[in-house]
Amino acid sequence: MVSLALGIPGIRRDPAQLPPTVGRPDTPGLIDTFGRTARDLRISITEKCSLRCTYCMPEAGLPAIARENLLTATEIARLVAIAVRDLGVHDIRFTGGEPLMRADLAEIIRQSAAVAHLPGGGMASISMTTNAIGLDHRIHELVEAGLTRINISLDTVDRDHFARLTRRDRLPSVFAGIQAAKDAGLTPLKINAVLMRDTLAGAADLLQWCLANGVRLRFIEQMPLDADEAWARDNMVDAAELLAVLGTRFTLSQPHRDDPSAPAEEWTVDGGPATVGIIASVTRSFCEACDRTRVTAEGTVRSCLFGDDETDLRALLRNGSDDATIAKWWRAAQWGKQSGHGMDRADFVRPQRSMGAIGG
Ligand code: SAM
Ligand code: SF4
Repeated sequence: MVSLALGIPGIRRDPAQLPPTVGRPDTPGLIDTFGRTARDLRISITEKCSLRCTYCMPEAGLPAIARENLLTATEIARLVAIAVRDLGVHDIRFTGGEPLMRADLAEIIRQSAAVAHLPGGGMASISMTTNAIGLDHRIHELVEAGLTRINISLDTVDRDHFARLTRRDRLPSVFAGIQAAKDAGLTPLKINAVLMRDTLAGAADLLQWCLANGVRLRFIEQMPLDADEAWARDNMVDAAELLAVLGTRFTLSQPHRDDPSAPAEEWTVDGGPATVGIIASVTRSFCEACDRTRVTAEGTVRSCLFGDDETDLRALLRNGSDDATIAKWWRAAQWGKQSGHGMDRADFVRPQRSMGAIGG
């Protein structure tokens, strides 16, 4: 493996120097040696962010990626076309960092939506995960460009707590973004909240707020992907602890789980129809049903959040490689996907990149 000075260790810069292609590069679809098929593509488009959530970013932000090293809107759309047309992907999600930090976000969505035609007819979904800061000013251009769904991250509805957790006093802007997304018809709107010890006390208030505002809440167990490396298994709040806290205010019952690859377990609240989801990434891993593949903002494929192995598609995009060659390398990268993350084991080793640098 070759690592050059990109500031991020482990990135393979030259596909020619990768080990010989393993697996079955001519097999359609993004399959791996454990029999899983990736259909859900997460594309990080920036390392920049308007917040500094303690479970994700360092206080000073992530080291800046040089502009020329970021994929352009046209390069992103080319990868979307290859993924949807040749590799069986049917869901595209833009993430980061914060996608709204890219001035050309609407252009990225527009160009990607234009090529997201599923071979059997219909369109791949084009969605994004965002903190919603400033979303109210841009929602119309994004929807007009082809955005079909949105997930918004919100961990607390208490302004002081929000300011401490994100190191920015921007809760009113998030509320405005959520309202704008609802008004624009991006429903059902999902809210993601990372479960931490100091968010537990406000968890029932957050659920109450989401029920009152007609948005779907999902809690996510905190993963060891914080840039500050403060995560500790012993101090982690797990799904069981959250259920006990929510159970003091709400009656929760668990309905049947239809889709085993869906990471969230949905609990019916007070008899329904409202639900609350819990993504127990650490304590009830769903790795065996994982259907994701990821592209970082610099254009490397990362088949698993926790696998530091990356394959450089940007070099292929820029050296004149044709779509078939890019698809071949992508398949080879996915073929090498590890079986799981092992976060709950004593011998677990953290990945080198943090969540904001991979794209959550
Ligand atoms: N900035 C956008 C946002 O916050 O929605 C998109 C990028 S963020 C990295 C994507 C998702 O990852 C967010 O829902 C965030 O809450 C989640 N996340 C970040 N760090 C995490 C961690 N250590 N454990 C679990 N989820 C995390
Ligand atoms: Fe920014 Fe999202 Fe990370 Fe929070 S979770 S610091 S909003 S990238």
